Amino acid sequence: MKTALTGILSVSASIVVMAEKPNVIYVFPDQMRNHAMGFWNEEPFKDSVNFTADPVITPNLNEFARQSRVLTSCQSNFPLSSPHRGMLLTGMFSQNSGISTNCVANRPVSDLRDDAECISDVFHKAGYDCAYIGKLHANHPTPNDPQNPGHYVESQVPAWDAYTPPEKRHGFNYWYSYGTYDVHKHPHYWDTEGDRHEISQWSPTHETDKAIDYLCNNNNERDSSKPFFMMLSYNPPHSPYRSTEDCPEDTYDLYSGKSLGELLVRENVDTTMTKAPSVRYYFASVSGIDREFGRILTTLDSLGLQDNTIVVFSSDHGETMCSQGIEDPKNSPYSESMNVPMLIRYPGKIKPYIDTELILSTPDIMPTLLGLVGLEEKIPHEVEGRDYSGRFLGRDEYAPLRKGALYIKNSDGAKDSAGNVISYFPLSRGIKTHRYTLALNLDKKTGQLKNSLLFDDVNDPYQLVNLPLEDHPEVVAQLCKEMAILLKEADDPWYNEKILSELIPYDDIN
Ligand code: CA
Repeated sequence: MKTALTGILSVSASIVVMAEKPNVIYVFPDQMRNHAMGFWNEEPFKDSVNFTADPVITPNLNEFARQSRVLTSCQSNFPLSSPHRGMLLTGMFSQNSGISTNCVANRPVSDLRDDAECISDVFHKAGYDCAYIGKLHANHPTPNDPQNPGHYVESQVPAWDAYTPPEKRHGFNYWYSYGTYDVHKHPHYWDTEGDRHEISQWSPTHETDKAIDYLCNNNNERDSSKPFFMMLSYNPPHSPYRSTEDCPEDTYDLYSGKSLGELLVRENVDTTMTKAPSVRYYFASVSGIDREFGRILTTLDSLGLQDNTIVVFSSDHGETMCSQGIEDPKNSPYSESMNVPMLIRYPGKIKPYIDTELILSTPDIMPTLLGLVGLEEKIPHEVEGRDYSGRFLGRDEYAPLRKGALYIKNSDGAKDSAGNVISYFPLSRGIKTHRYTLALNLDKKTGQLKNSLLFDDVNDPYQLVNLPLEDHPEVVAQLCKEMAILLKEADDPWYNEKILSELIPYDDIN
């Protein structure tokens, strides 16, 4: 009798605890740089950054920022789609997430580890209802098309898009997703049961509709007795951005009459690049994302969930958009590529504030979110990121701040006889601190230093002058020492193989 009563009491207690757990919504458009949010040009935000924001119209984000903790320096350590997503989901750097570079069929080396305990696994085990909506791009595509068994889900060779079967969904019980596919007004998705849906609508609008259905539980999408964790992964403002086939027509009208000089305001931009007119469609997509994000917030308000729901807005990496004269929008150490939005709203718990001190790395996001909901004891031991929830919640105790964020870039390594990439080459490593950006690039043949980038981001915020390493030995020595610490923390091959040990003092940090 006593045992039974104790059992009832403990079940009741756990229900009470679960009822108090906040919901979590993590929204992350693809390729949206931190600079592409209009509030950075407004008080009080403008004094916290040393750049001029893009002339974008983002009223919902502007209002949301005033209710949120806003970071000036959230850095995408490996600013490329799949590697970012691997680090976000596992809380580990790319060496241990399983995703060493973008996921594509001829790169079996890059696949989210099945045995990694992802953020959604932890939420699921803790009693959350977990939903993933939108682009995943974290699985190695295999011939597992549920509608055409034995085939890839697309005819392109090698296949990029992928179907994620239930056993690879890491605790997400509601599924409406795809791998990667860039036809923004004709997207497709596989649902929880593996059925494919072809849609003729701008993908963020459709995904927001599905997210609202989930929030409202319109079709019994979720167990409403549980708190929920929802990841909403928009593909725009990712390319293509060539016409109104890629973005909403009405938000395009906000920018169509402006000159390239009015739109491309960064001092490091080349407005003569062929890509330059894309900026109108890129910003139109940003304004479209802002509107869709606003619909999520309005829905939360109408459901009375705003106070008990943590809402995060971020991105997987940025977009150079003609800055530095380079075509590649990402996968580089420039601030347009690495610096991403990070806004966290938790009414009554996280004080709205602009945090200019914390340099947040991608693997920190998972443990920090788990800490925010009181699941810090459940952070997997393998996690390499740091839990900064105490800092956000105003506690005295939290993980020590890092001196900088590690920068990572890999290229393809060895191939098997079929041409599949079975290893990767750790092409570049670097560090972004409050003051400097340093990147060291290897020669793939010799493994020696090929070239470098070193910018004084305080005195040269647009990274116009690449400082020669030999002219700044003390700065380089200090940065390399900090980098060694980060490389060790990331279990990075540069640390494990002591790459460029003549520059990086690996032996001094133990
Ligand atoms: Ca991406």
